Parts: sequence; structure tokens; C-alpha cells
Amino acid sequence: MNILILGSGGREHALAWKIAASPLTDRLICAPGNAGMAREAECVALDLADHAAVITFCRENGVDLVVVGPEAPLCAGIVDDLEAAGIKAFGPSRAAARLEGSKAFTKDLCAANGIPTAAYERFRAADPAKAYVRKCGAPIVVKADGLAAGKGVVVADDLAIADAAIDMMLSGGIGEAGGEIVIEECLTGEEASFFALCDGVSAIPLASAQDHKRAFDGDRGPNTGGMGAYSPAPIVDAAISARVMREIVQPTLRAMSAMGAPYKGVLYAGLMMTAQGPKLIEYNVRFGDPECQVLMLRLMSDLVPALAASRDGMLKSFDLRWYSEVALTVVMAAKGYPGPYDRGSVIEGLDAAAAVEGVEIFHAGTRSDGERILANGGRVLDISALGKTVKEAQARAYTAISRIQWPEGYFRHDVGWRAAEREN
Ligand code: AMP
Repeated sequence: MNILILGSGGREHALAWKIAASPLTDRLICAPGNAGMAREAECVALDLADHAAVITFCRENGVDLVVVGPEAPLCAGIVDDLEAAGIKAFGPSRAAARLEGSKAFTKDLCAANGIPTAAYERFRAADPAKAYVRKCGAPIVVKADGLAAGKGVVVADDLAIADAAIDMMLSGGIGEAGGEIVIEECLTGEEASFFALCDGVSAIPLASAQDHKRAFDGDRGPNTGGMGAYSPAPIVDAAISARVMREIVQPTLRAMSAMGAPYKGVLYAGLMMTAQGPKLIEYNVRFGDPECQVLMLRLMSDLVPALAASRDGMLKSFDLRWYSEVALTVVMAAKGYPGPYDRGSVIEGLDAAAAVEGVEIFHAGTRSDGERILANGGRVLDISALGKTVKEAQARAYTAISRIQWPEGYFRHDVGWRAAEREN
């Protein structure tokens, strides 16, 4: 098969690494890709917002399957446009991608179908929103309805912070995404990421993972896209996984089918493990980044037939096998991220780092300049490792990092600390 992967982050590099290893893959192309993906695949400069250009490219190059990495093209309907042009695509339609594209849509779907989630109300005006915040009390969570690249959620510890978030979002501070807001109860517990592969009707759970959203050690500092992850998540055992499938994923699939928008692709449920059991924080309609990196390291089965079965509605009797080892990834980011940062610094030592046993390096924001690898984004590298234990995977990843010379970068030193403590 000729396969085209859309995206350029560590998630897409991990997908490219796994897809390149499939005996079913004849030709692998990534658009736009990055310096690491260029080692697994051909990289082409396509504008993902230009669906007609992507379709033309697929036709001219005999692409059999398009794998869409990020949420923006999914929410913009790229799967609908490709399928309408007769090109098979992995991922949800625009209507199904509303599970990520509109938090209000998802909250209403949960309410109508008894799916456990935080209590909430929707608002378009500030005064009633502030009155609701006063009725509920702090802490409370203010969320923009639409896609806001990680800037649309404020967990407010007091009413003044909640008021400021309400004013900022409803007055256009994050653009159209904040035209409507959801205000919801603040849940407490440990978070976990749960992934299910769906074909519109059936779903199979993938391995679980946990990530570190905060920039600095000790889970401090600003929220980021994710500074590290590990799989499995010790708090998601087989019983919890079955419960999440029964109480959250399957009712969602039934509801989406019933409204004529069957869900295909990866459904990523952000969960809070509360005293009453797992509750849905939010849905994403694609693999998490950096969770995808640890899932791909642990996946023993060929990924390509699974992606095709999701697209073709054939997952009913499908099975995936996983390595029992722990996978862990440490994100190296440009100093300043998630705020402003510089591009163009030189990264050295990657080959020596990749030679550490069990280590795989996935690139995110990198580009090559001749033989040199340059930083070209906020999150730049994902230093990933398998190990028999969390501690072994950690030791391997951090040994690899010690071989990398990149003074302009930073990383967390404690990825996997919760899971490592549980091992003791
Ligand atoms: P989201 O973009 O919805 O995943 O939110 C980003 C982060 O905000 C989550 O990973 C949680 O840490 C936090 N968060 C979101 N909603 C809630 C909630 N209802 N209660 C507590 N924390 C939340």
C-alpha cells in the first residue's frame, strides 16, 4: 500500500516509524513531516488546510490510505473531502470530530446518554456565567467551546480567576473558539489517557498511558502540550478499562451512530479517576502527543491492518497484541516553550543517544540543514525507551538524553515519577 501521513509532530513520527515497519507498506509519504520522519519516509511540503491540493497529490501518487495525525484537519473535514474523492482516509468525519471540536456538543452528548463527566452549564454571556460560578463556588473550570490549541481551559482556584477567564474568552481573547463557554465542576483524582480504536460501531481499547502536562519538574509551571508520557498507566487496570469501554466509549459510539455521525478513528478519552470511578474530562479525536509515541513502542501487532479495519468498519473481531514492557518518553523542548522560543539552534549527539539499548528517538519540531539537525519548534524531540520496569525505561531515556548536546533545550527530569513510586 502507498500510505500518506499528515502532520509533523512526534506523534506522526511514531506513526511513521510503526507504519514503515509494516510488510504491507510499499511507499510511505509524510506531509509536511520533519527531519526524523525524512529518515522513515519521503517528506513533501503540502498545506494540510488545502484539501484540494492533498487530494490532487493522492491521485497523482496512487495513495491508498491517508492517516491524519492532528485534530485541526479532522475538524475541518479532511476525511470527508478525501473520501468524497474516492481516497480512503483514517480518522473521523467532520461531524464526528465535533467530539473534540465542540466541548458543549460533547457535554450535551454525555448528559443525554448518562456518560459520567463533570456537572456543567453552557454560556454565551458573561453575567449569567459569573452568577453560575458564584452558585457553584471555587475551584471551578472555565472552557472555551472550540479548538484553542491548549489555551482554552482555565482551572480557576478562586472566583476572580474564573471571572477573568470568562471575560477573556467571551470578549474574543482566544478568537472564535471562545464565543461559547462551558463552565464545569472541578474534578479531583489522578488523570489518565484512554484510547480506543473505533470503526463506527465497534471499538477496541488500546494500551493506556499517562502524560505530564506541566512544563517543570514536580508537575509545576505552565500547561504544555505534554512534556512526557508512559504506558501502561498503572491506575487503568483491566477492570477499569472494561468499565471505561462500557460506561464511556460504547455509549458515545451508539449516540454518534444514532445521530448519523458514526465515529471512526482513534477516540482519546481524557479521564479523571475520581472516588466515584472514571469520569470523562474531554474527548480528543486523534492519538495524544506524546502518548502515541509510547503506544507505538509497545504495539506488537502491525498497525496498518488496524487502521484499515477502522476505516472499513471491520474491527468487530479484531485483536491487537502489546509488549508487556513499560514505554516512557521524555520530551525535549526549546527553552521558553510553551511561551516564545527561538528556532534554529543545532542539536548534536543524536546517533550516540539512539544507540542506548531500548531507545528510540522521535522528532517533533526539527529540520535538517545538510547533515545538521536544527530545532524548529516548541517541542523538538521525544526521547523514548522500553524497559522491563518504569525505572529501567527511565534510566535508558535519561542516559540517552545525557548524550545529546543541545544547550538551548530543556526537559523534565521526573517523567514517570508516580509510576516509579508505585514500583517501590
Ligand atoms: P482539557 O483540554 O479539557 O483536557 O483540559 C486540560 C487540563 O485541564 C486537563 O488535562 C485537566 O488537567 C484540567 N481539567 C479540565 N477539566 C477539568 C475538570 N473538570 N476538573 C479538573 N481538571 C480539569
